[in-house]
Amino acid sequence: MENRLKPMDAEQLREYGHKMVDFIADYYKTIENFPVLSQVEPGYLRNLLPDSAPNQPDSFQHVLDDIQAKILPGVTHWQSPNYFAYYPSNSSVAGFVGEMLSAGLNIVGFSWITSPAATELEIIVLDWLAKMLKLPEDFLSAGQGGGVIQGTASEAVLVVLLAARDKVLRRVGKDALEKLVVYASDQMHSSLQKACQIAGIHPENCRLLKATSSTNYALSPEFLSETISQDLTIGLIPFFLCATVGTTSSTAVDPLLSLGKIAKSNGMWFHVDAAYAGSACVCPEFRHYIDGVEEADSFNMNAHKWFLTNFDCSALWVKDRSALVQALSTNPEYLKNKASQANMVVDYKDWQVPLGRRFRSLKLWMVLRLYGLENLQCYIRNHIKLAKHFENLIAQDPRFEVVTPRIFSLVCFRLLPVRNDESHGNKLNHQLLDAVNSTGSAFISHTVLSGKYILRFAVGAPLTEEKHVNAAWKVLQDKATSLLAESL
Ligand code: PLP
Repeated sequence: MENRLKPMDAEQLREYGHKMVDFIADYYKTIENFPVLSQVEPGYLRNLLPDSAPNQPDSFQHVLDDIQAKILPGVTHWQSPNYFAYYPSNSSVAGFVGEMLSAGLNIVGFSWITSPAATELEIIVLDWLAKMLKLPEDFLSAGQGGGVIQGTASEAVLVVLLAARDKVLRRVGKDALEKLVVYASDQMHSSLQKACQIAGIHPENCRLLKATSSTNYALSPEFLSETISQDLTIGLIPFFLCATVGTTSSTAVDPLLSLGKIAKSNGMWFHVDAAYAGSACVCPEFRHYIDGVEEADSFNMNAHKWFLTNFDCSALWVKDRSALVQALSTNPEYLKNKASQANMVVDYKDWQVPLGRRFRSLKLWMVLRLYGLENLQCYIRNHIKLAKHFENLIAQDPRFEVVTPRIFSLVCFRLLPVRNDESHGNKLNHQLLDAVNSTGSAFISHTVLSGKYILRFAVGAPLTEEKHVNAAWKVLQDKATSLLAESL
């Protein structure tokens, strides 16, 4: 019989914590035994669990057994070395122990006073990361700017959109909301559209400008200029431009410098979303992809994607922190305190949507300290090397083509349509995706570019090695052979 579990008890925590760490370590040891993409059917869990919570405590071992038997089959294994879908979402030893410490302390650091170390470490660690990325000094905390950890890139774009909206409305009058216009390419992540919905931007004033293969799916500055001019002519107010470095579909890189100049000359807020590719820019040879970031008002990268920091950790920097604070601050009596009232401190509650916030800087700090810049650079370079290797494998098989130039660690490719029949080609690639993913031995995802169904192979899981890339390619080739034979 186990001892009754107390709400908190150091020795019980030690015992359960050790058991859980062992369970997780064993998970990582055997992770390749699971199908990468969960193969369960919708609703599978309802039949496996009771209708209501137990009245009496269950045993820890019993719960662990249920996790093994009932939960893990419904898990898609993002940390599997055979995971190549979407973009990665990295876990690491350093990120994990940092997350553990954050869970252990379990503070809620909305104001400086609620845990001074949480606020101060976040400021320092984001300054460190800004320096690793060689961001302009204006983004550092010493001036008017600074960094903040948001949960996701979606929250990052939302808070800067709100800051930009309120800033322009202070200038042109609050009744002008319906005239405000937002610009991005149609390759921009859907989070911008959601942010516009929340911010009350008229849906027809959200301009998602078509990007084509002629620019490798990057936003054309000329097209942007023309559209802004047309909007100005009819009395609209352009106020927000969002560029992406490493788009979700195909890692397209928008030309930051020229876009930023257009934004500046029109008094617009310029946000750069480098959610995935930002991590690569800590390597000197990839830093040029964010050249022009000096024109930006805000910059975002997800350390939880490809930077060994467990989810969630989305780093956002702004040049004018007061714009964020003006849009998002509240000052209720029950939160007043000397340091905040005297304006001596940062209260991160005023830089984000929720009040409560976790001590997320701990895990990023651990990642930066326990790996160091050089190891992080090697980590990124290795994935890019593996992606190049995959690209070479495709090039050797005339049945396939690489569809867009590979820039980082994502390869966009497809099985060529038989007899130039594009619609059959789309169906074929869709079937290939399903066939590969249903084997459970690799997981890839898809997109559509210029009407073509494209397969995406994103290298970036921490355990992936060349043998995993080769094995995934073999599955792709074998499945392609069967599908082509069937379609003859
Ligand atoms: N921006 C880009 C370029 C992305 O690729 C993604 C997700 O993959 C996002 C934003 C949204 O990320 P999040 O889940 O952090 O909101």
